[in-house]
Amino acid sequence: MVPWLDSPDDADRQRARSVLGERGAASAGEGWDQLAQARRAPVFAPQPSPADSDVAVIDYLDGSFPPERPIPPIPPHLLATVHAEAHGEPGDPVWPGLFPSTRAKLARLALARWREYPAGVVLRAAEHAYGRYRSHYDGSYHAHDALACALVHPDVDAVALADRYGGHHRGERGWKSRRKTWQLLRWARRHGYLPGLTRCACGHDWFVAPPTQQAAVALAGHWTAIRPLLVSEAVDIDRWLAVFRCSRCGEFWAEDSIPSGHAELFFGYPIHTRDPRGWLARAHPFDLPA
Ligand SMILES: [Zn+2]
Repeated sequence: MVPWLDSPDDADRQRARSVLGERGAASAGEGWDQLAQARRAPVFAPQPSPADSDVAVIDYLDGSFPPERPIPPIPPHLLATVHAEAHGEPGDPVWPGLFPSTRAKLARLALARWREYPAGVVLRAAEHAYGRYRSHYDGSYHAHDALACALVHPDVDAVALADRYGGHHRGERGWKSRRKTWQLLRWARRHGYLPGLTRCACGHDWFVAPPTQQAAVALAGHWTAIRPLLVSEAVDIDRWLAVFRCSRCGEFWAEDSIPSGHAELFFGYPIHTRDPRGWLARAHPFDLPA
């Protein structure tokens, strides 16, 4: 798996620089790893034969975010350490680099999973994860870790959150931030924190591109039924083609049409892409056999 939320990229550093000045930007960028390592070293200094449950937590905190392995339980004697590594609550910015480190995000995730944060605190943090007040940080820290914590907390309604954030509309925040949210929702589904894709009402897993006009006509009814779930992502007005995204599962659908009497009959079919605009630019309208 690609650890896609792990490290700040150039755009992040650019934004951090504008908030923090050159010195701070160094800690958010190049110097980031060195700082984190220097800080980590004394905390997990080798101990005589640590218990398996301790090793599981240490390995987990050294991994990538979001974790591809299950979140291990935290032995009581490590709770204070994990709390210290979390540097506050879900969504809290961290001095001096603004972004919580991978280890801080992992610590927060474990504390949420095992109810060390109250459900109300976690839910509130997730609700403000992408709020406008984050412009205070010059838009540089969207709290994906807060949403992740809410998705894994046993007492937070993850489905309601997924509905809400899966349906975020264009313009509210950047494409990159929204894409990270959908990746996070997919991660939660893969690991059972959210119901699986097969349960999505859009049926992305069940349908394929139609091979004939008859199949396209059959898809048109389903298309009309699921249209309220879908958000427009890219439109090509000249060619009457469009790409939509399911607000529930984040998967993409293409819309095409065939002549039907005096009008066009629109139908949609599932596509597999991470780049809806690029997909649309390369797509050709169907010329289906009868
Ligand atoms: Zn769907």
